[in-house]
Amino acid sequence: MFCVVCGKEKPMEELRGGVCAACYLEKNVLASVRENVDLEVCVHCHARKRGEVWVEGHGGMEPIVEDAVREAVQWAKVVERPRAQIEIVPEDERNFTVHVRATGVAEGVPFDSALRTRARVKNGTCLRCSRVQGGYYEAIVQIRRTKRAIGKEEMRALKSLASRFIERVVSEGDRNAFVLRDEEVDRGLDVYMGTTNSGRMLAKQIAQEFGGKTTEHAKTVGQKDGLDLVRMTFAVRLPEYQAGDVVVVKEEPAQITSVGAKTVQALDLRTGRLKHIDRDAVDKALVLRREDALDAVVVADLGAELQLLDPVTYATVNVIRPEGTDSVGETVKVLRHEGELLVLRPTR
Ligand SMILES: [Zn+2]
Ligand SMILES: [Zn+2]
Repeated sequence: MFCVVCGKEKPMEELRGGVCAACYLEKNVLASVRENVDLEVCVHCHARKRGEVWVEGHGGMEPIVEDAVREAVQWAKVVERPRAQIEIVPEDERNFTVHVRATGVAEGVPFDSALRTRARVKNGTCLRCSRVQGGYYEAIVQIRRTKRAIGKEEMRALKSLASRFIERVVSEGDRNAFVLRDEEVDRGLDVYMGTTNSGRMLAKQIAQEFGGKTTEHAKTVGQKDGLDLVRMTFAVRLPEYQAGDVVVVKEEPAQITSVGAKTVQALDLRTGRLKHIDRDAVDKALVLRREDALDAVVVADLGAELQLLDPVTYATVNVIRPEGTDSVGETVKVLRHEGELLVLRPTR
């Protein structure tokens, strides 16, 4: 058989539509890229505009240019296993010469073509950065603890939860879910969120992890295009008690080890056993705060019991040794409740 284009003799199976491989490659454009690839990149965060959407940027300009050029390469429908190797040569800060080596297989014929384009970067400001700079936010997550302020450690834990949460939400694609700022207010923490939805989700997660209840309310803050602009507040109310505190439920004092959504896990200070108590019952219980604990001198270690010097009356009293205290120091932390000394489990 002969190629209908160049007339060379070729075996039948090497011809497609009567054309040999060399002429096939010459005749068909299998990969191409336009002369210029224009891209808009946020000057603040290096996000790149793709269509109408800003996508998270990564590090320097070259990987962003590479992504944009890779997306701009056009492949013929018949191409299988398309692969583009990209080499970027900066001309200046905003212009790049880009060499693309495009390879693949088309109708059984492997090909390897060298393409070239010029990437031109335009500076822009993405939606998130313009919102952040304009101080725009859609929701406030307001975290308060009942009857007391939020402790330092807890404040740290809350803030780190909020920033981990945002990182996750942004990496999952909602880059407008930023935290504008967090503010320690008199009795708690206010977190300003970029989107209503992220605010609602954050409030829910805090409530779950810290054992709180959430409520929400909307406030009209203005108008835009005839529609009310609404700002949401998601209030998270944490209970008065937290891990480490003692609660007295039905005359039984127990030290809380963790607070769950429906129950509280606590160490019964009289039996030394762990138990679960319904949140409803704990919500009504007397709370003795860990920060109010006093140091009591250990007079004698009697094994199952400890002999202590009552820090208020200076009488010696025998108390149950708390679970998990194989060795005690010279003093232990105690809370007094109706004349009784309750020995707290040491914090790790
Ligand atoms: Zn030919
Ligand atoms: Zn930006």
